[in-house]
Amino acid sequence: MSVFKCPKCCKTTGGNEAFCTDCGQPLNIKCPACGETWRYMFVYNYCPACGHNMEPVDAEEKLKEELKEEQSTPSLELQLENLQNDEASQE
Ligand SMILES: [Zn+2]
Ligand SMILES: [Zn+2]
Repeated sequence: MSVFKCPKCCKTTGGNEAFCTDCGQPLNIKCPACGETWRYMFVYNYCPACGHNMEPVDAEEKLKEELKEEQSTPSLELQLENLQNDEASQE
């Protein structure tokens, strides 16, 4: 029988939960390299599907950071800057 531990609060679960029953931490991790989703397990330092070296907790934080970077593109900032310049020149 496999034992799963919550990466956030370290509560031991039965291994069938998709989320930690104690703090709500998602226990399914998506590999940033191959996109495979698998159940979080402390013994998994590497993606079981492609062997990508990953630390599950950090990997999730990295995914969030990557999403943030994608949203704030330089072109969008330039567009906003141009809009502000147009408004200023009109007045
Ligand atoms: Zn937890
Ligand atoms: Zn993978």
